[in-house]
Amino acid sequence: MLLVLKKNVEEVNRIFKKIKINKFENNGKIIIQIKNDDFAIVEKDILKSNLLEKITREQEYLKPSRIYKNENTIIDIKGTQIGGKKIIVIAGPCAVESKQQLLQTAEGVIKSGANILRAGAFKPRTSPYDFQGLGYKGIELIKEVKEKLKIPVTTEIVSVKDIELYEREIDVIQVGARNMQNFELLKELGKTGKPILLKRGIASTIDELLMAAEYIMTNGNENIILCERGIRTYERDTRFTLDISAIPIIKKKSHLPIIVDPSHAAGQRELIIPLSKAAIAAGADGIIVETHIKPNKALCDGKQSIDLNTLKKLMQEIENIARAVGRSL
Ligand code: PEP
Ligand code: MN
Repeated sequence: MLLVLKKNVEEVNRIFKKIKINKFENNGKIIIQIKNDDFAIVEKDILKSNLLEKITREQEYLKPSRIYKNENTIIDIKGTQIGGKKIIVIAGPCAVESKQQLLQTAEGVIKSGANILRAGAFKPRTSPYDFQGLGYKGIELIKEVKEKLKIPVTTEIVSVKDIELYEREIDVIQVGARNMQNFELLKELGKTGKPILLKRGIASTIDELLMAAEYIMTNGNENIILCERGIRTYERDTRFTLDISAIPIIKKKSHLPIIVDPSHAAGQRELIIPLSKAAIAAGADGIIVETHIKPNKALCDGKQSIDLNTLKKLMQEIENIARAVGRSL
């Protein structure tokens, strides 16, 4: 639980000397994070002291919260800032398939004005018989294209053993929905200095997403971009249900940037532009969208991938929305 206290360092140290705490300062207040069970030990002294301003029992994460930091976190990725006034667009194929496919897509992504290239090398697929990605060969191709075209790249990590490689070669390390609660992976990513794109689990609550961010942050890495990518509901017309409410709720609870992935939520390309517009209108800091030179030939997630012409159209349409909500592309 968290206690927000008036600043009186001596008094606070006296009251809490018997228990293990995490202590921070924000906006002239002292914030104490303690175990719920320990509250009874200090309760009397706290209430007598007149220092207590606020107490939150249910919210046990601290670092992603606005209690820890009020102002929005802006993450810089080679000059592209996520979380500021500008809306960012990450685009690229679900999976790296070949050098030519990645290069041509990346060229189109750059031409469209999008900021970052996405491309999966290791693909967590529901079926073991589906294309699993090119693996390390895919990372090599990403590296080549990134160096040639000078565009920052994000790709998904699926194993702790690859952290060093990703730290060296990748600009933004993506943690996919299926690994949002892979706590050993989160802890190790906390020890890197790399921006992490943390996607919401398919059946995870907003607080569970923020708690996953806490795992990374409390291990030392505060460069996190959250991603709403749809959750599992009873609706079958879409692959997942895009939780638009998550955007303003996360903005209220957290200082971290939040982007939206309309592709995995929709599961069909017709919905990508409307969902992207809704995301920006609701306050998202950007979108990540699957884009392929020939979507119908894609080895992974073709149905939900848009082509390069549609990406151009998407950029124009979200620019109008961005302007309407006081932001820009
Ligand atoms: C992806 O980005 O290609 C992906 C697998 O996404 P998610 O983890 O959200 O399903
Ligand atoms: Mn995909």
